[in-house]
Amino acid sequence: MGLFYPRTGCKMPKKVAKGKLEDRLLMKREPAWDKLSKKERDAAGELSVEYRKFLDDAKTEREAVKAIAIYAGARGFHPLESNPHTRPGTRLIYIWKNKCVALAVIGKEPITSGISLVASHIDAPRLDLKQNPLHEEAETHIALLRTHYYGGIKKYQWATIPLALHGKVILRDGKEVEIIVGENPDDPVFTIEDVAPHLYRQSQAKRHLDEGLKGEELHAIVGTLPIDEKGHKGRTKLLVLDLLNKKYGMTEEDFASSELELVPAGKARDVGFDRSLVLGYGQDDRACAFTSLNAICDIGIPKKTAVALFFDKEEVGSEGNTGAHSRLMEGVIARLLQHTEGSCRGAMLRMALENTVALSGDTTSGLDPLFKDVHEASNAAHAGYGVVLTKFTGSGGKFSSNDASAEYVSRIRRLLNENKIPWQSAELGKVDEGGGGTIAKFMAEYGMDVIDLGPCVLSLHAPMELTSKADIYCTKRVYLKFLEGL
Ligand code: MN
Ligand code: MN
Repeated sequence: MGLFYPRTGCKMPKKVAKGKLEDRLLMKREPAWDKLSKKERDAAGELSVEYRKFLDDAKTEREAVKAIAIYAGARGFHPLESNPHTRPGTRLIYIWKNKCVALAVIGKEPITSGISLVASHIDAPRLDLKQNPLHEEAETHIALLRTHYYGGIKKYQWATIPLALHGKVILRDGKEVEIIVGENPDDPVFTIEDVAPHLYRQSQAKRHLDEGLKGEELHAIVGTLPIDEKGHKGRTKLLVLDLLNKKYGMTEEDFASSELELVPAGKARDVGFDRSLVLGYGQDDRACAFTSLNAICDIGIPKKTAVALFFDKEEVGSEGNTGAHSRLMEGVIARLLQHTEGSCRGAMLRMALENTVALSGDTTSGLDPLFKDVHEASNAAHAGYGVVLTKFTGSGGKFSSNDASAEYVSRIRRLLNENKIPWQSAELGKVDEGGGGTIAKFMAEYGMDVIDLGPCVLSLHAPMELTSKADIYCTKRVYLKFLEGL
């Protein structure tokens, strides 16, 4: 008999019992909840409580670094600099410019045989203050802060919601001041105003949705009270500055050396009568940051050295000295080599990088229940169907993408199946609809094998994003197994 059928006929295969062939041949797409045991479902619920706390504590990249350092510090991680002697199982933490952090657990094998790396990002779309942000509208006496948005946002979504101000100001004399206003229930918040539907038909309603609010219209209200003394120009602005001065010692020029971010105020919440989802700011990519943090804290002595890396600046193209396109990854591994081997020659560093296996921990967009058309259903990720394996990202013709090899996908697939972790394989959206990249391609530059693996998010990049607790749990599980060694 030739391949498939004899050339001369179409003899059908022997009849098999109904359903059997489907079971054997077809891929099943089922909710992860159906595949998780009762114990695992409970564990998913428990993990989500910790996850929500992390989302609340880590709204900016700086806060994320602090939250990671505290979490890992309480679980035996010590600063790399003060830990000259390492042995298998030693737990190290390395902080870079207060915006990136690496956690490492030294393995049994030498670093030159490669590490198991999970890298995610801890920046998220938001509204940054401009360098000269504070102004007062002359006719209304309303004081506002001008912003320049950070990352890909749908601008209209950021109006009429409570916003909190997070960040750091460095005063004229170099003194550093941390600011968080709007998270404590007693705090005031800030907000961006929008025009009434009664009055927008001839103006705003005619704009494309993309310009519903323009970048220069994202000004947050910070005061309406004029300072008592008459005769000043801009009395409301002056009162705001006076309040900032009394509280933080700030003057207007200090905004120049500040990094202040407006983010959605308030805490992450459960969603649904069944509490199966989490609603919260910045889940792209704190979903992966938290799960990789949680996973690396759970491992004992891994085969290869395990590293969880947390980058800044992914949402603006991974540029800058805290983005994945910097040489930070190299720097981290060089330091680990120096610590474990006592030296770090160029060839050793190259071998370590090339032998590394990596997961780019990032989120993808889940199938939108109301806009299914932007996806191609059979290759879209479904919320609640497990962790998503994204072989390639990029856009139109796979441009700017890391395309993981079939061999590497196979290793990860076996890891998932052997450990019975619900997973799905997907791409972002329809081929010509748009696209997006992750840090995977910057990791691949070193020759390491890398693939994107993380949960999907609904309302991706909106002020409040949605994830499934089942997916968060599956993500943690696979990161843990991966970091223990392929
Ligand atoms: Mn992301
Ligand atoms: Mn993103």
